[in-house]
Amino acid sequence: MDSVTILGLRVDRVSPEETLAAIEGFVADGSPHHIVTADASMAVLARRDPALRAIVDHAALVTPDGAGILWAARLLGTPVPHKVSGVDLVGELCRLSGAKGYRIFFLGAAPGVAEEAAGKLRARYPGTQIVGTRDGYFRPEEEAGVLAEIQNAAPNILLVAFGIPRQEKWIQAHKAELGAAVLIGIGGSFDVFSGRVSRAPVWMQRSSLEWLYRLSKNPKKIGKVMTLPKFALLALRQKLRGAS
Ligand code: UDP
Repeated sequence: MDSVTILGLRVDRVSPEETLAAIEGFVADGSPHHIVTADASMAVLARRDPALRAIVDHAALVTPDGAGILWAARLLGTPVPHKVSGVDLVGELCRLSGAKGYRIFFLGAAPGVAEEAAGKLRARYPGTQIVGTRDGYFRPEEEAGVLAEIQNAAPNILLVAFGIPRQEKWIQAHKAELGAAVLIGIGGSFDVFSGRVSRAPVWMQRSSLEWLYRLSKNPKKIGKVMTLPKFALLALRQKLRGAS
């Protein structure tokens, strides 16, 4: 796999098409494959979280999620041409599910949100097989039931929306027992597809300002947004060190 290293974090140089082709191969293989969607906040977090970094290092695929990663890759002289975000992947996988019969399970987000997202995606992509949904606010004593629910639904693909890094750690802890061939942490994607959180206008996405739109809609995201200047400074430092 052709990868770049950003703040010590592995990011694979893959396009959306290559990601989908890899997923088709993983589903055919059947054994569990963890796909990480790596954004700038993950790169900052992983510097102080060796367990998270090890999970990313050993993932089947690490996609470049967001403008920050593309900017840093360019700055470091190892450009990554395409963005492959969690939100984009969820839509594409639902389309693929209709075409190939892949079974998808939605785990995470507030009660009702994954089910609403599933309803909207079934309407958008007729034939999509979303075989189960479950919110991400279960208690520790409910976890065994959640695991059994997923096993019984027998998905090929499990999408987990708990936020970074909880979703990555949960996937790592449970991927061997769940039976899914592909497990992906997709952050706030169900909030977006349910319609509860709107996506930035296309011009803002193109101008790399999606983060600003999300912040204006949800001021609680300030913690995540504040990792962006830190990310930029650390990337500049990595460049200067590389140049010296
Ligand atoms: N979430 C969850 N359980 C929790 C905490 C969060 O299911 O205990 C969900 C939350 O409702 C949201 C998603 O995880 O849908 C996190 O979205 P965010 O955009 O914050 O993720 P990130 O920015 O880390 O990708």
